[in-house]
Amino acid sequence: MSAARSAYSGRFAPSPSGPLHFGSLVAAVGSYLEARCNDGRWLLRIEDVDTPRTVPGAAQAILATLARFGFEWDGEVVWQSQRSAAYAAALEDLKAAGHVFPCACTRREMADSSLARDGSRRYPGTCRDGLPAGRSARAWRVRAESVIRFDDAIQGAQQEDLTRDVGDYVVLRADGLYAYQLAVVVDDAAAGVTHIVRGADLLGSTARQIHLQHLLGAPVPAYAHLPVATNAAAEKLSKQTLARAIDAHPPAVALVAALAFLGQHAPPELARAPLAEVWSWARTHWQIARVPRLPHAIAPEFA
Ligand SMILES: [Zn+2]
Repeated sequence: MSAARSAYSGRFAPSPSGPLHFGSLVAAVGSYLEARCNDGRWLLRIEDVDTPRTVPGAAQAILATLARFGFEWDGEVVWQSQRSAAYAAALEDLKAAGHVFPCACTRREMADSSLARDGSRRYPGTCRDGLPAGRSARAWRVRAESVIRFDDAIQGAQQEDLTRDVGDYVVLRADGLYAYQLAVVVDDAAAGVTHIVRGADLLGSTARQIHLQHLLGAPVPAYAHLPVATNAAAEKLSKQTLARAIDAHPPAVALVAALAFLGQHAPPELARAPLAEVWSWARTHWQIARVPRLPHAIAPEFA
């Protein structure tokens, strides 16, 4: 990193569960422009920690799409599937400090417990004070007793009562995989990420991630959650909604549309200009203060 660069480090962290769609392009564009306009680094991480959800070839396709769109990332791409040793070390730290406990409960045993804010089952606390006799650990959970507050640069003041809204959450899953929340926190800390710009579909993960940052003694980055892109039926774009691969569009056209979605309205003729001119316009005009807060629908051709 050159001395002229600021301390800003941003990142884009797609999951390789399918091709990039308009919603993921929006997250890439927002995090990239905010990093570049702050003279910062922009790091790339492939979030393939959840190996059963990883689609073979999807990560390579994502990297090819990003290159085709003219994104330039700093340093080597980080692959979560190669980071197990770092996650294991973090879990050992949490164990040593008494922040986690082994849990023997099956999904079936928790089926009657109340719903957490994200729709999953809130942990009823069965194994909190020790495993029931004759049972062995399936997963490891964090004791979640805090109220987390943070100020999001786009979504405003946020607060989550982890006890009430989430419950003790999993950091090592019953299938032996490290949980997404732990992996993200360990990776962001290791890479020195200072600013996280991502989709508001992850807003509900942020309190748990800040909680883990506190427990692991990691710095808390600044957060900005971009509005969620929806189709005409107000559904978040995803594999389930059969969201179209962004590669189906000329990059300049898709980029101008993503900028407009983020409140950065370029002259329409820019969609027919060379890609470098679109990026040049974007870097000159980008203002995070213009990004709208609420989810909204995108043009049908991108959905
Ligand atoms: Zn349990």
